[in-house]
Amino acid sequence: MVATTVGAVTVAELVKRLEAGVAEVTTSDGWRAYLAAQAKFHSYSLGNVLLILAQMPTATRVCGFHGWLHLGRHVKKGEHGIRILAPMTVRRAEAGSADREDEPQAVTRFRIVTVFDISQTDGDPLPMHPAQTLTTDSERGAWLYARLLDLARAEGVSVRTAEDIRGSANGAYLPSAHAIILAPRLSVDQRAKTLCHEFAHALLHRQTGKPRAEQEAEAEGTAFVVCCWAALNTAQYTFAYIADWAHREDAAALVRKTGSTIQRTAAKIIAALDPAAEAGNTRETA
Ligand SMILES: [Zn+2]
Repeated sequence: MVATTVGAVTVAELVKRLEAGVAEVTTSDGWRAYLAAQAKFHSYSLGNVLLILAQMPTATRVCGFHGWLHLGRHVKKGEHGIRILAPMTVRRAEAGSADREDEPQAVTRFRIVTVFDISQTDGDPLPMHPAQTLTTDSERGAWLYARLLDLARAEGVSVRTAEDIRGSANGAYLPSAHAIILAPRLSVDQRAKTLCHEFAHALLHRQTGKPRAEQEAEAEGTAFVVCCWAALNTAQYTFAYIADWAHREDAAALVRKTGSTIQRTAAKIIAALDPAAEAGNTRETA
């Protein structure tokens, strides 16, 4: 089989570059600061989420007084805290009831704790999510988007832009409808990259039992290679995105594990976009 070339490099070499880039992100100071900040934010129970939103509907990130200090921020003077319930385990005797053999020795009680929303604090900015969305609008991005759109539709995948996409997601693939949704606010280059990511999901994950981290690495890795082929550099987004999905696991190992799927899928998409690529012809990408 002739290796698919991307400019002067092969798809396999691009996957190696991806692995090195992801490894580099996860050893950076910025990445460590980001993970440390994430660890400060608990995931709250549904009951507490409702309590928080009832008291402050605009709340986005909440944390205790001292938690904010650890993050280099302080609660502003005169701010009223949001009161939530923290479970705590107390021994039966402390709970004030007579000790009886047939009752558990510990019970869960709740105490009220006070938290504050980020808008009630001042100080250092929080460490940013390291995946930086592409903000550029290039001709290459517009070209790639148009070609991918044709290709997706030829494969029976519908693509639409919709406001009602979940949270901050840039795009989504819905296996049941075999449909891709894109957020409307994306730059031209980010839109091309996101469409490629979701199209890779459509090709690979319509029915799959693979862990989500592997699915995301396969989709984003494929988008990285295809975008490189189109001379669109998505490293600033891709490396951190995959590292984020790997979380505290070895992110480079995740790329190695998914590398052959990334290579195969990217080569397939590139060949469909440009049949000359499969014959081993070098495409000028300067
Ligand atoms: Zn995805």
